[in-house]
Amino acid sequence: MRRKIVAGNWKMNGTRQIAKDLAVGVSAIVEGLDRSIDVLIAPPSILLADVAGQISSNVNLAAQDVSSFDNGAFTGEVSADMLADFGCGYSIVGHSERRAMFGDTDEVVAAKVAKCLEKSIQPILCVGETLEERETGEMLNVIGRQLHTALKGLDQTRLGKVIVAYEPVWAIGTGKTATPEQTQEVHEFIRKEIAVIDEAVSDVVPVIYGGSVNAGNAKNLFAMADIDGGLVGGASLKLEEFEVICKAI
Ligand code: PEP
Repeated sequence: MRRKIVAGNWKMNGTRQIAKDLAVGVSAIVEGLDRSIDVLIAPPSILLADVAGQISSNVNLAAQDVSSFDNGAFTGEVSADMLADFGCGYSIVGHSERRAMFGDTDEVVAAKVAKCLEKSIQPILCVGETLEERETGEMLNVIGRQLHTALKGLDQTRLGKVIVAYEPVWAIGTGKTATPEQTQEVHEFIRKEIAVIDEAVSDVVPVIYGGSVNAGNAKNLFAMADIDGGLVGGASLKLEEFEVICKAI
C-alpha cells in the first residue's frame, strides 16, 4: 500500500516565534492522527532549527529547496548535508515558484533530485502545467518531460524514495483548484509514466496533489484512487484548516 502524505509548504512566511507556535500546533494535530499518515512541514530554511526544536517525533521535517552542489563556494545555497544535519528527511524540489522565478530548469531539478537521493533525503518532485499549456493541449507533454528529465537514470531503490507532487501552476495560491477528476487523470498519467521507467516502483511512489488545497476540497481530492495526499501551501499556515486537511485523508 502507498503511504498517505500531507505536506505543508510554509513558503517564505513566518518569524521564529510564529514558526515555533505552528510547529507545536502541528505536533498536537499529528497526535490525533492515524500513524499511517505522514505529516511533513517545510519551513523556510532559516527557521528549521527553531521548528526542529518544537516538533514531536511524529512530524517530519522537509526543506523547501536544496542545492544541487555539495558544500563549498556557493553563496546563499543550502546543501543537502546541511539539511540532513537539521533532521530534514525530505525536500521539495522543482516547485513552480522556483522554476518560474529562480531559474530551476528541468536539468537543475534533476541534479537536485539526484543530490537529495545521494544524501538520503526524499525529494518531493513538483511537476505541473501552466494554464496556457493546459489550454493548448501541451499539459501531458510538459508533465512527462519534467518527470522523465528528473527521474532519468535512477535505479529502483532511488526511484522508490521519490514522492511526486502534481501542482498545476494555475492552481497554486490562486484559490482555483483542479477538480478531483482533472487531478485523477494527471495522477494516473504520472503513475503510468513512472511504470515506463520501472513497473514495480510505479505502484509504490506516492503522487500527491498541490494547488489551493483547503478544508473544503481536501476530502473529495483525497478520495480519488491515485491521489495519495496533498502538498498544501497557504492553508498549512492556518492550524485549524491544516487539521481538517490532515483528517480528510
Ligand atoms: C504550494 O505552495 O505548493 C501550494 C500548493 O500552494 P497553495 O496551497 O497555496 O496553492
